[in-house]
Amino acid sequence: MRTAPACAVLACLAVFPACKRSGGPVVRETTAMDTYVTITVYDENLPAEKIHSAIDSAFAEIRRIEGFASDYSDSSEIGRANLLAGRDSLLISAELAALLRTSFAYSDSSGGAFDITVGPLEVLWNILALHPRVPPPDSVQSALRLVGYRRVALHGRTLYLPRRGMRLDLGAIGKGYAVDRATEVLAKAGIDRAIVDMGGNLAVRWPGAQGWDSVVATISVRHPRIEGSFLGTFRYGSGGVSTSGDYERCFIAGGRRYHHIMDPATGYPAQGVVSVTVVAPTAADADAISTTVFVLGRGKGMEFIRKTPGVDGFIVYEQGDTLGIDYSPGFRGRFSPGGAQAPSRPRSNARSYD
Ligand code: AMP
Ligand code: MG
Repeated sequence: MRTAPACAVLACLAVFPACKRSGGPVVRETTAMDTYVTITVYDENLPAEKIHSAIDSAFAEIRRIEGFASDYSDSSEIGRANLLAGRDSLLISAELAALLRTSFAYSDSSGGAFDITVGPLEVLWNILALHPRVPPPDSVQSALRLVGYRRVALHGRTLYLPRRGMRLDLGAIGKGYAVDRATEVLAKAGIDRAIVDMGGNLAVRWPGAQGWDSVVATISVRHPRIEGSFLGTFRYGSGGVSTSGDYERCFIAGGRRYHHIMDPATGYPAQGVVSVTVVAPTAADADAISTTVFVLGRGKGMEFIRKTPGVDGFIVYEQGDTLGIDYSPGFRGRFSPGGAQAPSRPRSNARSYD
């Protein structure tokens, strides 16, 4: 889970009708899981103290999840399981066990495109290195031999990675999961209307406005190729939204773009798609599915979206010098290309070593 602190791919531009009242929404930002977290609360009639204390608790919840799920800390549960790979098993929390099972269910339903055992590939490609390079093919093959979710032994709460060098990486689902849990904490604290946005993973909570039924939020999607611009906007109600893109952590070598979303079938960054935006009942689902669809590519990816209840999405791809977009049926006519200038925030770490 090492997304560069750079890329709020989705940004909520405007939410109505509540923001027309006096005072305006309460917006607070922090960083966690190496990305920006923004919580916006629209219950403006509540006492400010109550809102701020709820946001404090939601931020704490995100840090709690980071504390057990991050793979860059040796002391998190995931970090310890990775360190023990090939040597010993670890008793993990029921919460992590459930999150791993959800991840494996996505691996099953995607034919292995979604696979949290891609850790060794992420380490090998080391996209965030100062001078990242394309690794030699035999190194890719060696790393690939350590990838495969079916090898993971999870019995109840006992987790064992059977080969040294195996490595779990929850980067494709952890942020969405954290966003859902943070939204739940806000709800328990009496907050009805809020948006939690974490590096391109977003949950909208708004009573009586599920999915497309009743739109309350205008969501802007950043342009994957033009820094500081939006690709377009759409309006949505309660639920989860996520974008996966080839521009978040990437480098260009020999005229080709290499990025952080790995195809577990090849050991190389997944090809053929520029970005995928998905809406789903929860942010964790949206997160997992946007990555899955990115790896599956245009045809199989769209099939996956279409067959998954409550899910819609669009897939952006390169067509010569321009971008093409495939929409799932629910998205058709709902996405308005273009839009306002994106907020000025560093967002791309694409580097060229040609
Ligand atoms: P996202 O930005 O949600 O699409 O997640 C991408 C992150 O998930 C990467 O930075 C890796 O940490 C991890 N990842 C990369 N490829 C895969 C894959 N095929 N399945 C699951 N997780 C992946
Ligand atoms: Mg994801």
